[in-house]
Amino acid sequence: MRLVLLGPPGSGKGTQARFLEDRFKACRLSAGDILRTEVSEKTPLGREAGAFIAKGQLVPDRLMENIIETRLAEGACARAFVLDGFPRNVAQANALEIMLRKLASSLQLVLYLRVPREVVLERLGGRRTCRDCGAMFHEKFDPPRRPGVCDRCRGELHQREDDREETILARLGVYEEETLPLAAYYRQRGLLHELDGVGTVEEVRARALKELGRFLPR
Ligand code: AMP
Repeated sequence: MRLVLLGPPGSGKGTQARFLEDRFKACRLSAGDILRTEVSEKTPLGREAGAFIAKGQLVPDRLMENIIETRLAEGACARAFVLDGFPRNVAQANALEIMLRKLASSLQLVLYLRVPREVVLERLGGRRTCRDCGAMFHEKFDPPRRPGVCDRCRGELHQREDDREETILARLGVYEEETLPLAAYYRQRGLLHELDGVGTVEEVRARALKELGRFLPR
């Protein structure tokens, strides 16, 4: 399984990536999670990336490409990976193609989770993230058993700085301008598989599995 998950912020890429990682024993490379870890550990990379993330802008391509290239080269990652949040523009997609070729690998498919703007706004506005394990909940659609406390690790839930309203709007603008063109880019290459991303986590997961079942050899 060598897959890219494409879709707007809040389309459920992170949630589905965690599931696919387990199911297909693949390396999950979630660009946003990797960056947030760097920021919280105050590494040089984290310091450089933090300001971009807080404003809802993309961090510079060169930073992101270096991170992903390093991770893909680890272990058997180039043979089985789920990329979530990378690539996010055409330059990164071209870079991905080159790095995979260097690793004697290639992309098998791109799952594009289609979710309308108003659903994204509702999902991201109510999203709460665990400070410790990164698990995500939603005030309305997927509330934790105890308000403010992570069901998985009992860590504290908080609203990510970039899930505040004005930053959400900035992230959506960046998505529409820079990332959305990747749908056409991958469609042209015959790699794009579109999926309705509206519904519960389980419903979207079932659609994803059905699509993958059609595509991947048993
Ligand atoms: P996410 O959790 O995927 O929504 O990512 C959170 C933030 O991390 C984004 O709004 C960007 O600032 C940054 N980021 C994530 N992935 C990338 C990428 N591929 N290129 C540049 N910046 C990224």
